[in-house]
Amino acid sequence: MTAGHAGAYEDVNEGVNEGADEDVNEGADELYGRLRAYEGRPAATAGTGKDLVNEPMIRHWCEAMGDTNPAYTGPDAIAPPTMLQAWTMGGLSGHTDRSGPYDELFALLDGAGYTAVVATDCEQEYLRPLRPGDRITFDAVIETVSARKTTKLGTGYFVTTRMDVRAQGAPVGTHRFRILKYRPKYRPAKEKGNAKRPNRAARPDPVVNRDNAGFWEGVAAGRLLIQRCGACADLRFPWLPGCNTCGSPEWETVEASGEGTVFSYVVMHHPPFPAFSESGEGGPYAVALIELAEGVRMVSNVVGVPYDKVRVGMPVRLEFLRTGPEAQLPVFRSSAGGEG
Ligand SMILES: [Zn+2]
Repeated sequence: MTAGHAGAYEDVNEGVNEGADEDVNEGADELYGRLRAYEGRPAATAGTGKDLVNEPMIRHWCEAMGDTNPAYTGPDAIAPPTMLQAWTMGGLSGHTDRSGPYDELFALLDGAGYTAVVATDCEQEYLRPLRPGDRITFDAVIETVSARKTTKLGTGYFVTTRMDVRAQGAPVGTHRFRILKYRPKYRPAKEKGNAKRPNRAARPDPVVNRDNAGFWEGVAAGRLLIQRCGACADLRFPWLPGCNTCGSPEWETVEASGEGTVFSYVVMHHPPFPAFSESGEGGPYAVALIELAEGVRMVSNVVGVPYDKVRVGMPVRLEFLRTGPEAQLPVFRSSAGGEG
């Protein structure tokens, strides 16, 4: 049996393949010749599954997928066939047995400007069910590299990798995985939407829960509230149901004066997030850890200065940034010399 589940990779496949045309000057594509030389070369050799096929991973998978098929539980349980790839994955620490050619192929594409990557689809073939206790090994090969294609995302090359999976040394299935490595198209902000700007991307709404509801009520009223322990009087931020110092669940609030300094900051360059950049066009923006005059620290944005002028120790003052008809967020304006 075979399963293709492009759906797992969002809708990019549709967007990618629609209107995919081979370049007319394909024959003159010198890079393609170099890329094709990688066909048949190993992407991973003698890989070993990090865990035996096991019941806890099967259960977690079924819960995440909402799959209640009885075949996956009980004494005769098999693993869901679509877990095939899961048994071969290296996790955050990765595999130490990666082979060079796949990395070389990527480096070649990166160097030629095809720096973006998107998974387009995968296909699996199953030869026999996997059961708890099976010991997984695998080899992967770079099966094909397509000629250069122009897609809606940009121009690039499809790379298909085939992984042969074995249990106790005998074949159990095949996993084919296809990516598009492409040159990202630059789209000027003007072309993206209306010429008028009020349409800038909206910031996501804060997630309000019972532990932080009081904080957001304060923000809605233009007040920045800090929790103070009812037992030991320690101040705390962000809001928590209990005191980290003494464990007491009793608390009250104090209103911050709004004075603070930049304790630390990072500048986000990627991925672009138009809602957070001051220009609204997705450029870099500074995320700062503000130390309030009261002594607690909070993550926020510094406004009124370019992202590359934010500095540790910079004095800032609270203000509220309107982000929607009824929404506002606490941000901090540089009070050093600005109109602040
Ligand atoms: Zn306390």
